[in-house]
Amino acid sequence: MKKYNFNAGPSMLPREVVEATASAVLDYNGMGLSLMELSHRSAEFKPILDEARALLKELLDVPQGYEVLFIGGGASMHFCMVPFNFLNRKAAYLNTGTWASKAMKEAKLFGEVVEVASSADKKFSYIPKNFEVPADADYLHVTSNNTIYGTQLHSDLDSPVPMIADMSSDILSRPIDVSKYSCIYGGAQKNLAQSGLSFAIVKESALGKVERAIPSILDYGVHIANGSLFNTPPTLPIYTALCNMRWVKQQGGVVEMERRALQRAEILYSEIDRNPMFCATADGEDRSYMNIDFVMAPGYEILEEKFVEYAASRGVVAIKGHRSVGGFRASCYNAMPVEGVRLLAECMSDFAKR
Ligand SMILES: *Cc1c(COP(=O)(O)O)cnc(C)c1O
Repeated sequence: MKKYNFNAGPSMLPREVVEATASAVLDYNGMGLSLMELSHRSAEFKPILDEARALLKELLDVPQGYEVLFIGGGASMHFCMVPFNFLNRKAAYLNTGTWASKAMKEAKLFGEVVEVASSADKKFSYIPKNFEVPADADYLHVTSNNTIYGTQLHSDLDSPVPMIADMSSDILSRPIDVSKYSCIYGGAQKNLAQSGLSFAIVKESALGKVERAIPSILDYGVHIANGSLFNTPPTLPIYTALCNMRWVKQQGGVVEMERRALQRAEILYSEIDRNPMFCATADGEDRSYMNIDFVMAPGYEILEEKFVEYAASRGVVAIKGHRSVGGFRASCYNAMPVEGVRLLAECMSDFAKR
């Protein structure tokens, strides 16, 4: 039976990308050596890193003056690197959920943190609007997609100060205006590659403004000066990211990824809204196109586990919700074909009939 993997992360990748990675692990380019066995400074690896950097710039239309990094550490490391490198006195944070709160917690170690707005009052089921950003803040930090609570900023905000964004779970899912940001970062394991890798797109002129000393390994400038080779980066995940970005380009780029995301979201949310047995947890206009959260409608709660089992019996796997929301979460990243979402919607409809 064909399986559709709705895991939130590490998550589904296009089959071609998994196969290209598997093949490179066994024998890279007919060299008789595994890609895992090659030096990160070798003549074979350099073109991989160069092309990966260039492709991310091309796909996201990154303007001049920005550099792309592929380093270890995950998004959580950037929660600390961002204030280390950009927070001089004061930073503004938009609190839209677990990851935003964690980012804010780290920033407080470095200076004044202003929480410009929070949706904690309604279990992070919406994105706050019309909040004020202090004009003297060094940056405004946002989480573009809230992987756990299933809400998303569907366009780049207007901010009086440069923005910094955690785009772990919606990078490459839509076009973005990179010029509005000093830094965009994330973990690779949602929409780019397997785990172990993080990415950052950094505006070079925004660096060098803090007064503190920065340890080399946490200094964006040091990583830029060394072309992501300050220390050994996760070489195999960088190769997977490259294969995935080639796939995105071949499919029609981020414009096409956005069209598909909208199509998947439309199918799933309309079934959730139509079916009396289920309801969505996030507010209409702020609903994520990437992580679609829903629960059993009141009165049907005891059927929750039964539905997870039923969906799995038809090939729809890993839809159990995050422990802080409960219910279900269907993560629909770039690799999720529309057929997977149609099948899940069909499972919901057939389950209600039964
Ligand atoms: C998964 C996730 C993180 C955490 O990523 P790590 O790579 O595990 O540190 C941070 N932010 C968002 C939005 C995420 O989805």
